[in-house]
Amino acid sequence: MALISVRNPYTGETDYQFEDATPESIANAADRLRSNQPAWSAQSLDDRLQALQVFAGAIAARRDEITAALVQDTGRQAVAALEVEAVISFAARAAAVAPDALAKPPARQAQIPSIEGTANRIPCGLVGNISPWNFPLILSFLDTFPALAAGNAVLIKPSEITPRWIEPMKLAIDECPQISRVLDIAAGSGQAGAALVDNADAIVFTGSVATGRKVAERAAQRLIPAFLELGGKDAAVVLASADIDRAVHAITFCSVQSAGQACQSIERVYVAQEIYDDFVRKAVALAQTIGINYPDINAGQVGPFIFHDQAGKVLQQIAAAKGAGAAVLTGGELLNHGGYWIKPTVLTEVDHSMTVMTEETFGPVMPIMPFESKAEAIQLVNDSRYGLSAAVFAGTDDEARSLAEHLRAGAISINDAALTVLIHEFEHDAFGESGLGASRAGKSAYTRFTREQALMTNTGSEALVPTTLG
Ligand code: NDP
Repeated sequence: MALISVRNPYTGETDYQFEDATPESIANAADRLRSNQPAWSAQSLDDRLQALQVFAGAIAARRDEITAALVQDTGRQAVAALEVEAVISFAARAAAVAPDALAKPPARQAQIPSIEGTANRIPCGLVGNISPWNFPLILSFLDTFPALAAGNAVLIKPSEITPRWIEPMKLAIDECPQISRVLDIAAGSGQAGAALVDNADAIVFTGSVATGRKVAERAAQRLIPAFLELGGKDAAVVLASADIDRAVHAITFCSVQSAGQACQSIERVYVAQEIYDDFVRKAVALAQTIGINYPDINAGQVGPFIFHDQAGKVLQQIAAAKGAGAAVLTGGELLNHGGYWIKPTVLTEVDHSMTVMTEETFGPVMPIMPFESKAEAIQLVNDSRYGLSAAVFAGTDDEARSLAEHLRAGAISINDAALTVLIHEFEHDAFGESGLGASRAGKSAYTRFTREQALMTNTGSEALVPTTLG
């Protein structure tokens, strides 16, 4: 087995190693989980939800060690603690949503009156869950709880950049016999992810567009469903009528929090010309109050780059923008304390010839551009290959909603930003290259891990087919 060495994002030191899962070990884990899945799915939904609650309790009992490992993985203290609490809460969310989402639809009559239709939801079998490094825990379990609730087994392949939390989490899994039969985590590299696609009955993937495309192609070879949650270049639009302070606050924090390493980060801001100068002045003032979490990991809102290569990509985008005429009003420089940080960065004099306005940045960078008309704002937002989410600020919710209707993005926050972090009730699709497949929110979070089976019952006295053919 090959050993993978892991860098600590806070100290910059290589201080952890683990064994890369081989294609054989992935296949063995998949076989074991798949053989246990029918018994799990044969249990009642209530029993499965109860087992998930027990699992949440086991995670809660180990929250300190899981959090400590996640802090080492991500270089963030408060966010790591939040991730663990969020995952613990997923069992309660499943209990609240799954019974309705997975309920059998009532019987209804077909157009031919003697035919009555009902449906069953049959779990896919083994769901492979491939997750990224930016929220390693949440993004490994957000789809896992619904998939398990729906009666599937799940094998998770987290990112090799952030593997330390896996060990304590596996202890929590081992403490729950029902769960350990149908849930496992394989620590491994991209090749382990590829092997998982070869062994699962359905895939849910969260990560970059480039890898998502490889996963989709591989899944297509096997004709298994692949639900892809990919990158974004989320825009915020601030109309002239908006409450500027509210918009500045929401947009600035959503641009720089977690060092911008979130798919729902605001990565480009379009502000009505009339209020542009005011907005920029206030955004710069606010950005300058937001600190990094070094040397005190408990201070500041901006953590280090979890994947150190990412810092270089962000600096490259800023440098290219500067070279093409952009102004860096605050931030923009690398702080090297072993780990790499960039302070909240505000750019102006930007346009769509610059990658900082068109490619995913994944850094604490807020480029701001003025617009003259609503039509121009819409055109600018839609001039993107991505379409994950967006935000619109206006004096009235109606004015914001009527602009939002024209935006090619799946989840739009009205007079707020990045609400998909907190709100999970409403289904939304990804537009463009930001993803594929049914929504991970709402009832679809559960139903997408099942196949719908129609039961068409002839309640009449004769079989229809012989009388209607020939
Ligand atoms: P990557 O696409 O690089 O990796 C995602 C996962 O895929 C990792 O576990 C990776 O393993 C694995 N992987 C790599 N190669 C393959 C392969 N050939 N087959 C199967 N799996 C493979 O994404 P990042 O980890 O860099 O995450 C950042 C990206 O995730 C950003 O683009 C971000 O926007 C997106 N994202 C999207 C979200 C959404 O909800 N839409 C939410 C959060 C992030 P390894 O790391 O070990 O190589």
